[in-house]
This record gives sequence, C-alpha cells and structure tokens, in this order.
Amino acid sequence: MEENVAELVDVACHTCRIVLPLLDSPDGREAWWKFLDEHAYHQVELLWEHSASQERIDIDYIEVGSDIRSDPSFAEYAGEWSGRSLALRPRPIARAVAEIVRRAFDAMDAHEWQAAPADAAAAERIMPYLDFAPPPGELVDDAVVLARLAAVEAALEQLRRATTEPLGDHFGTFLSDVLRALPTAADLPPDELCAESGPLASPRLWDTERALRLIQHLVTSRISLR
Ligand SMILES: [Zn+2]
Repeated sequence: MEENVAELVDVACHTCRIVLPLLDSPDGREAWWKFLDEHAYHQVELLWEHSASQERIDIDYIEVGSDIRSDPSFAEYAGEWSGRSLALRPRPIARAVAEIVRRAFDAMDAHEWQAAPADAAAAERIMPYLDFAPPPGELVDDAVVLARLAAVEAALEQLRRATTEPLGDHFGTFLSDVLRALPTAADLPPDELCAESGPLASPRLWDTERALRLIQHLVTSRISLR
C-alpha cells in the first residue's frame, strides 16, 4: 500500500492553479520540495484519485509533467522553468470564465442543458478560432504579441457573432456570460500589451488566451457534433 500512495496523490495550489503529481523519483522529489517552497502558504490541497475536489481541477490548471506542450516537465518545474513568472501570476479572467464553464458542465451533467439545432453549427464556426495553447515561457517580441492579439480579437468576434444566431437558451446565456467576463478589444490596447510584454507575453493577454482555451474545451467536448 505505502509505495503506491505517492502515485495516486496530487498536490494542488488553488491560489496559483497548478497541480503536481507526487512522484517517488529524483525529479519528482525535487519538484515536491520546490512546490513546498513556492506554495506552502497558499491554498494547497492534497488530492486523491477519487477526491471530490478533483472536479475543481479544470484545464486552466497547469499540470507538472502532463503531456500538454505548455506545461512544464518535473525537471523544468524543479529547476529554471522559463514560464514560471508568467504562469504563476493570478489569472482573474480565466478564473471568472472557469466558473461559468463549470456551471455549464454541471447543467449538462444534470441533463438540464437544453440544446437547439443551431448550437452545434455555431460551435463548428467558432472552434477554428479557439486554438490557444501558447506556453507561458514562449519569448515574444512586438510582432508575436500583435499576432496573438489578432487571434484573440478574431475569437472574441466569433463568440459575439454566434450570440446573434438562434441558439438554445443555455448556449446563448453561456456565450453572453463569457463575453461579459472576457475583455473587449478596447480592454486590450496593442501599444499597452506590447509595452507590458517581453521577454514573456503580457499577463492579461495570456490570461485571456487561457480563458478562451477553457471555452474551447467546453465547445469541443460537448457542443460541436464532432
Ligand atoms: Zn501557489
């Protein structure tokens, strides 16, 4: 029993939205000490495989050692993870959107969500615009910031356009709610985003991209027909 425990336990910091699986390996132990050093005074929780709190771990949580490109390996996390200063900043936009997405999943799981025929078609049109997974450590210059901002603005425009279609009440309300939580183009002035970027991306740009990724997850997994 005892040697298995470590494999089944994750430790999460809900303040920073990061999860570390506890691994009994050199990298795993170093990562654990780093986690203690970094998060001991935050809202930290041990999670077992079947803990009810596993439901709090949405896809905006960074998971050390996952196979997602934007997440750090154990060795990176324990050492000089280049994305650390951006990844561990608060993400208020993603947090607000995560709450709306969680309520939508809950309504679907409770079979309360009523879909309309137009929902899936609207989802198909939105999906190509919602592909956001830039690693926090990606180095950016002004050109990269402006390209990423253009992609964010195109996604926001598609979400807004979808609300004018004859969607079911639930999907329509969901889109209105997330649009209220997301910044508008006026909240993302290009010159300010460029000024606050470098070498890593602007925190509010990355926060917005993470929020859009949460919406993508819901739309792709539950609303589109694919
Ligand atoms: Zn923390």
